[in-house]
Amino acid sequence: MIPFNIPPKTGNELNYIKQAIQSDKLCGDGPFSKKCEFWIEENFNTAKALLTPSCTAALELAAILIDIKEGDEVIMPSYTFVSTANAFVLRGAKIIFVDIRSDTMNIDESLIEAAITNKTKAIVPVHYAGVACEMDTILAIAEKHDLWVVEDAAQGVMSTYKGKALGTLGHIGCYSFHETKNYSSGGEGGAILINDPKLVERAEIIREKGTNRSQFLHGIVDKYTWQDIGSSFLPSELQAAYLYAQLEAADTINNFRLSIWERYYNKLSLKLKAEQLPHIPDSLTHNAHMFYIKLSSNEERSEFISYMKAQDITTPFHYIPLHSSPAGKQFGGFIGHDHYTTQESSKLVRLPLYYGMIKADQNKVINVSLEFFA
Ligand SMILES: *Cc1c(COP(=O)(O)O)cnc(C)c1O
Repeated sequence: MIPFNIPPKTGNELNYIKQAIQSDKLCGDGPFSKKCEFWIEENFNTAKALLTPSCTAALELAAILIDIKEGDEVIMPSYTFVSTANAFVLRGAKIIFVDIRSDTMNIDESLIEAAITNKTKAIVPVHYAGVACEMDTILAIAEKHDLWVVEDAAQGVMSTYKGKALGTLGHIGCYSFHETKNYSSGGEGGAILINDPKLVERAEIIREKGTNRSQFLHGIVDKYTWQDIGSSFLPSELQAAYLYAQLEAADTINNFRLSIWERYYNKLSLKLKAEQLPHIPDSLTHNAHMFYIKLSSNEERSEFISYMKAQDITTPFHYIPLHSSPAGKQFGGFIGHDHYTTQESSKLVRLPLYYGMIKADQNKVINVSLEFFA
């Protein structure tokens, strides 16, 4: 069976995990955590990067940091993972879903302004498949209406928009290092990027159970106390050690994934129309997080998945639009028309793509797909 994903491995993970064990410093914010955070800050240019146990945790930290309260409204696409919405619902927000663009599956920036009310607090663009949302427009709307922008860049590590790393464009960016993402910290992991320097101090307090332990460790205060609400948003050093081995090989992993993506695109574009294939706008680079195709209908998608499965190839789909789910109905509402969210998501299917995927398997995916369309 060709799986849809195999977690990335570079070969250095065990060595670094062993070093972490031998250092006898296994709790959060040890040497490997610092190395990873420094790597992100240097390579992506953010005021402060902090590792978190997941992207879900990073989003939850972000919602606390921007003071989301009961009755606030937060705008996002419905075509996303549940954590994008949950993090804000946990603080009492109502989620306002707006439609996506059919070409990138990202939030349609032209529909955001109509969804803003005097209760709106934040916009949460999700960079689907590691392809950037139209950030200039989104940031201009946010500035005009005095709103926070929290990027869900779970899939966007190593992608750029007009030369800037995804996750560094809004006030806050959230990364995932889950094993299904391009870089993993041993199964589960994430990071929060604090791009607005004014938010850094409080972010560190919230992440350390609401205490100023971070300032204490830096020698800024001589004892640490409870300052604010907070939780434990620190991953262990074992996770950071695993992640560091991946970040060091970030270019290698990125180039490998991009080469598979290009092969898929070049071969499948012989049979498929442009609107059935991923669209990469001019002003950005992507990280080959995902290769998807769109079938002509939901029925044809089921046929495709069965056809591929019969040839031992796993081709999953996702997401059930949040506004049509039980919790989405309870905690949110769709504003405007659902032209594309339901329709396009019901036709999309993902092809296997992972670091280390052998050429023979790539060829098989291409050939069996082409056979289906022949
Ligand atoms: C994977 C993902 C998340 C959640 O990431 P975890 O690290 O698993 O918590 C959130 N949003 C999007 C868009 C994702 O793809």
